[in-house]
Amino acid sequence: MPIRCEIVSQDRMVWEGDADIVVVPGVGGEMGILPNHAPLLSTLKFGILKVRRRAEEELFTIAGGVIEVQPDLITVLADSAENVAEIDVARAEDARKRAQEILKEGPPRDTDAYLKLEAALRRSNLRLEAVRRYRSGKRSRMPSMSQTESE
Ligand code: ATP
Repeated sequence: MPIRCEIVSQDRMVWEGDADIVVVPGVGGEMGILPNHAPLLSTLKFGILKVRRRAEEELFTIAGGVIEVQPDLITVLADSAENVAEIDVARAEDARKRAQEILKEGPPRDTDAYLKLEAALRRSNLRLEAVRRYRSGKRSRMPSMSQTESE
């Protein structure tokens, strides 16, 4: 029996479907969740979430969030999430360039503005890194991605 998985971001339902295993970027490292997992509520860091069902695998960028696990349902509430196959590279490059240029001119003094800028830079870096790593078609089926953000 597979487990149901729903990935929701602040503005949309990103993906829903059945999974044999879901691997998430937990704050303490990657966590693999199988059907009938014990109930769990945990925080997610920036990274890659993998959903595997039979021979198929879907990969998602997750810009932090929370995960709730019940024996038959995984719910991911992400601050921002995209299917790696749907990432718009030009948009992510523009976002990164915009953030880098502002930082080069001198970081904002206002803490909120600075944190927003830093988060935008991290999101665009995560998206671009995910595309670079996982869209080449050469990757193995279940790669290790523990260092996705920091490399
Ligand atoms: P940008 O600066 O490019 O808008 P962002 O992280 O600020 O990036 P938001 O405006 O918060 O993006 O996101 C709006 C929607 O667009 C969200 O659903 C997000 O997942 C999606 N999104 C953002 N960037 C990309 C991208 N490069 N490719 C595909 N979807 C994206």
